[in-house]
Amino acid sequence: MVNLLQFDRDALGDWCEQQGERPFRATQLFRWIHQRGERDFAAMTDLAKSFRDKLVASAEIRALTVASEQVADDGTVKWLFDVGGGNAIETVFIPEAGRGTLCISSQAGCAVNCRFCATGHQGFSRNLTTAEMVAQLWHAEFELRRRLALGAGERAITNVVMMGMGEPLQNYAALVPALRVMLDDHAYGLSRRRVTVSTSGVVPMIDRLRDDCPVALAVSLHAADDALRDALVPLNRKYPIAELLASARGYLAHAPRDFITIEYCMLDGVNDSPAHALALLALLRGDGSAANPGLPSKVNLIPFNPFSASGLKRSPVERVAAFAEVLHDGGIVTTIRKTRGDDIAAACGQLAGEVQDRTSVAERRAHAVAVPVVAPLSPRRAPVGEQRSHRA
Ligand code: SAH
Ligand code: SF4
Repeated sequence: MVNLLQFDRDALGDWCEQQGERPFRATQLFRWIHQRGERDFAAMTDLAKSFRDKLVASAEIRALTVASEQVADDGTVKWLFDVGGGNAIETVFIPEAGRGTLCISSQAGCAVNCRFCATGHQGFSRNLTTAEMVAQLWHAEFELRRRLALGAGERAITNVVMMGMGEPLQNYAALVPALRVMLDDHAYGLSRRRVTVSTSGVVPMIDRLRDDCPVALAVSLHAADDALRDALVPLNRKYPIAELLASARGYLAHAPRDFITIEYCMLDGVNDSPAHALALLALLRGDGSAANPGLPSKVNLIPFNPFSASGLKRSPVERVAAFAEVLHDGGIVTTIRKTRGDDIAAACGQLAGEVQDRTSVAERRAHAVAVPVVAPLSPRRAPVGEQRSHRA
């Protein structure tokens, strides 16, 4: 059985052609799946009966298995999906006024092993398939649409960030078709500005993404000098800061925005002093010389979300504010990320997947509020096509 969630529209067209169907049938089928959330081929009444019979015999729309679902006090929803082989991945929905952001996982675990990240601590298990990435969006969108009783033309998810578990650019071949499904007007129709790939800095793949499918880019920097970044993000030893920023500058020529988002996790006593802020400012502003050209960027400061075994602490609020002020005074738009869903360990860097991570599970359970599957969500309706930056 082929899982149709694995195909972008071109690939679905090829598959339909192999079944002896005309290309426009693929578009109809694609719309049934990704615009209506339909899984039952028999219900796809505008497809010829002969084609529907073929679909029943050879294809399926295989959703992910929900292991659990939790809803935080602030309406954030976290799904834990069992992806087999003892692996679980997490997907987080963050509702805000006028928009809904889905944070999607790209891998079970992560090989980059950043010092401050729960997913990194867990180690790398495997890449997710395109179907598994798309299925996170498919499940969340149609589940939320049902629950929120959204009308035709209303969308639950207006923005996607590839900021769940895993390093998306270390799963490039599966990522790009998944992005294409998100962007496709016959599927979710998200604009390139509303889909963000976040990376710890896989330089050659940033360069490829620029050419293949340029969506909004976020670079997880966390330090302005190589010695510190080497310690926090081990991938820096392979692709140091100067190379990473040069690649990000090259990306801008094709990017849907005229800036790169810089993510900076605020770690108490590690990277959060005024001197660190000045170093970051100097790096991003540059001095106009060829050697130090800077990078048009916005900075997103993420207060560290603690997890057991990290041995790190979140920077105090005043230190985060002082850091932001240095950047702001230097002319760099800076935001401090509001921590969402931390009562259910759904905040950045807390995603670990329960199946492999039994110790922290017990601890997380103690904090979590488990809720029934039909949970009260604050109703929000986002009109299609409304233009809003997900992190402005
Ligand atoms: N691998 C990609 C995307 C997933 S991580 C990346 O690193 O960019 C998404 C974001 O969460 C990254 O910016 C990451 O640095 C940040 N993050 C990871 N662990 C965190 C933690 N414990 N507290 C706060 N942010 C964290
Ligand atoms: Fe992987 Fe990103 Fe976590 Fe680093 S921060 S370990 S790259 S998921």
